[in-house]
Amino acid sequence: MQTTTTVKKPFRTRFNPAMEDIRMSPIVSISEEARTRAQEFEKSGKKFVFFQRGEIDFPTPSFIVDAAKRGLDLGLTKYPKSGGEDFFKEAVINRLRADQDVNDLQPGHVVASFGGQESLELAFKLFSRGAGFSPAWSCALENFVPFAQIDFEEVPLNRDFSVDYDRIESAIQGRDFFYLNNPQNPTGKVFTEQELLQIVDICTRNGVFVIGDEAYEKIVYDGGRHYSLARVRQDNVITSFTFSKTYAMTGWRVGYAVTRHAHIAKLLRLGNYTQTAGVTTFMQYAAAEALNNLEESRRSIATMVTEFQKRRDALYEGLKDLPGVVVDRPAGAFYMFPNFTDVIPRDLAGEERNHYIYKLLMAEGVATVFGSCFGRHFTDNVRISFSATPVPLIHDAAERFHRVFRSR
Ligand code: PMP
Repeated sequence: MQTTTTVKKPFRTRFNPAMEDIRMSPIVSISEEARTRAQEFEKSGKKFVFFQRGEIDFPTPSFIVDAAKRGLDLGLTKYPKSGGEDFFKEAVINRLRADQDVNDLQPGHVVASFGGQESLELAFKLFSRGAGFSPAWSCALENFVPFAQIDFEEVPLNRDFSVDYDRIESAIQGRDFFYLNNPQNPTGKVFTEQELLQIVDICTRNGVFVIGDEAYEKIVYDGGRHYSLARVRQDNVITSFTFSKTYAMTGWRVGYAVTRHAHIAKLLRLGNYTQTAGVTTFMQYAAAEALNNLEESRRSIATMVTEFQKRRDALYEGLKDLPGVVVDRPAGAFYMFPNFTDVIPRDLAGEERNHYIYKLLMAEGVATVFGSCFGRHFTDNVRISFSATPVPLIHDAAERFHRVFRSR
């Protein structure tokens, strides 16, 4: 049977701004361009360098994969418990006790989420006015801010990535939260305990919440320690963790939030329930195994971090003498964020300026991410990710940088 519909009014072309304002990160289109360029470039027999991506070239450790299979065999295939399975929360609490000396957490303080992405997005959604450092992880700016309809103020780090506390204090006036990512994407900065506590203190004095993002908590170099915001026994701290980077589990999409604020924990649970009705049960089982099996997890993390540190060193040594380029040695995460102000022609402005270095490097078969993806303040920088490039190719890439910038 055929039905006919008479259109009385044109369909709307603009939808809910919470959806319409979300932007696709330029990193996605950079990756598409890199793939196309690589096909052409590799015809010359040289390797293309994919420095743009935050993906990891390690597989998920087999003890975690095996646990997921066991979880299936155990029949953990039913609807998950709202906010997370008891065994998952218990594993989180135990590991924060062992790692960070946190001994007051209760199961109600932990909320399982689909990656760090979901816990952060839900945390942003609690509020309407926020602030955070610039540069910042692009997804916070392109996705969370519009999706949560946040009025967001970017507070620039100093040129050497140190913190200007007065700037934070004035930026957060009348705002609800400060977003604090540590170790930081894209700078690779690891905030010290003193810096973190001072930022939290400024927020607390001003009645502002802190949204922590500890995605790279275990990727710290030179034997350095990560100080977790979960150690701060205060109601105004919500902090997010993920299995993606620590356990090379980017595709599993498992993470969690920790907060001592009972009402916020409840709202995060309800938000998670509304969006996804909980995290896949057998994956929570495998994730709990990742946290519980300290011996295996320490071993796999150490292997990965040792390799990342070799890459970091190769990259830093390769780029530190580039004329006119300011290169900071990252202490954590797997990104470097050099500044090129002195080599970009002074009269360039706007998009032409923002893409200048990116284009020069792309022509040499090196894909990076231009600084404007990370906010308004570090647009003369580019992000280089060394998460998936082996050392010999990093040496090769560094030579290409020298070829490009020697003559400038
Ligand atoms: N925070 C930062 C700073 C990140 O770079 C990422 C992933 N790229 C995440 C959070 C979230 O990771 P996931 O959703 O994979 O857990």
